[in-house]
Amino acid sequence: MQRHNTEGPGLEVTNPATGHLLTTVRAFHPEEIEPMIAAAQDALPGWSGRTAKDRARILRTWHDLMLENRAALAAIVTAESGKPLGESDGEVAYAAAFVEWFAEEGKRAYGETIPTFAAGKRVLTLREPVGVCAAITPWNFPLAMITRKAAPALAAGCTMLVKPAEATPLSALALADLAYQAGVPAAVLQIVPATDPAGVGRVFCQSPGIRKISFTGSTAVGKLLMAQSASTVKRVSMELGGNAPFIVFDDADIEQAVAGLLASKFRNAGQTCVCANRVLVQSRVHDSFLARLRERVASLQVGNGAEPGVAIGPLINGMAVAKVEKLVVGATASGAKVELGGGRHPAGPNFYAPTILTGVTADMEIAVSEIFGPVVPVIRFEAEEEAIRIANATPYGLAAYFYARDIGRVWRVLGGLEFGMVAINEGALSTEVAPFGGVKESGVGREGARQGLDEYLEIKYVLMGGLSA
Ligand code: NAP
Repeated sequence: MQRHNTEGPGLEVTNPATGHLLTTVRAFHPEEIEPMIAAAQDALPGWSGRTAKDRARILRTWHDLMLENRAALAAIVTAESGKPLGESDGEVAYAAAFVEWFAEEGKRAYGETIPTFAAGKRVLTLREPVGVCAAITPWNFPLAMITRKAAPALAAGCTMLVKPAEATPLSALALADLAYQAGVPAAVLQIVPATDPAGVGRVFCQSPGIRKISFTGSTAVGKLLMAQSASTVKRVSMELGGNAPFIVFDDADIEQAVAGLLASKFRNAGQTCVCANRVLVQSRVHDSFLARLRERVASLQVGNGAEPGVAIGPLINGMAVAKVEKLVVGATASGAKVELGGGRHPAGPNFYAPTILTGVTADMEIAVSEIFGPVVPVIRFEAEEEAIRIANATPYGLAAYFYARDIGRVWRVLGGLEFGMVAINEGALSTEVAPFGGVKESGVGREGARQGLDEYLEIKYVLMGGLSA
């Protein structure tokens, strides 16, 4: 566990599958944050002053330790988030991949020399670390949402404070412990579990000591943090909510489309920001698609994610189940038909049965808001333009998926979709090598890829004169 994080008031961590208390961790009060920011500021010159290669070596060791401890980390993720063990294992690899990627990218934070505008002068740019950064992360990827921020921050030479979600502080603490073992100084990466997220968030946003805030979570909280950050004109990165359309055109490979939808929709029981939220199926293939989908979804095993064979674990808490239940009840009251599931699952109070609804219309609440549960709402459509119009009719713009084979259609639809990420004939798009992020109310900035490092670097323009003989 984190060295400085063993005393004080407690944050209870429970297993969402069983309801059992796992442990209690030290929670930080908002008043305790400023001294931690000061420690991060003190650590900044030492950390940013190391060579990029030196930081890369430490990050690489952190990556290796994550993989050496893969089974233990996966067990922690499953215990506190509920996701099936196989998915948790995949998350460890995904989270470690960001550390490896940015260990390498950090060595390539190049500046530029620019052809001069006047004799006797030289123009160049340097790229320097932003400074002390703060991150606030959600429970649905308790490791990867931290490494996607901390790895580029540390690679760039920044120091960082991370407030993990209340539900999943253990993954964050275990991750930090491995970072310290790898050689990251304790003040360079500080984990701040808290029971007052609003209070801690306010300090992060309003403290002049923090130069950048990176947030992953709901659009509502993201907007609040952006407004609070205005007082110090802080740099922000916002990875917010989504309402992903998943469009199946009549020239699609139906078997592939069903497989892709399962991958997209049911990951983490439907609790990811890039989960298919609205499934648009063209009339001509609607019934064949539905028949195959029903068959596949019916075979998904629901239960405690720690048990072998389980594909769908619990939702994070009772409130999440109640929200999904309300959306399904609302949809059926408005005319949607339950094809499969349609209610809570007997595995426990936090479980909801994998559900398929047909006859859903674009104006129903279930198609408008993020479901964050294992429910497939199917919307039937006739024409290509209609699908694009429905897909874009949302304030969100994170991920979109579509299945089609006609090359002209592929380019037309791709051009028409207002989303930061589009997967064509694929149901899973997250990778450390590509820029992850949204447009519209889904966020600001990109994570992963070479762009992910830019988020933690400032450009310093240098004009050097007096060079003429
Ligand atoms: P959330 O309620 O916004 O919480 C996310 C984080 O913000 C948690 O650490 C939470 O702390 C904290 N928080 C809550 N209220 C706050 C406040 N007033 N000030 C500062 N921090 C505050 O989101 P969630 O329900 O946990 O996560 C699901 C959401 O995240 C979905 O909308 C999903 O789409 C989005 N998400 C987006 C991405 C992406 O990359 N775009 C990735 C994953 C998830 P507590 O846990 O203590 O409440």
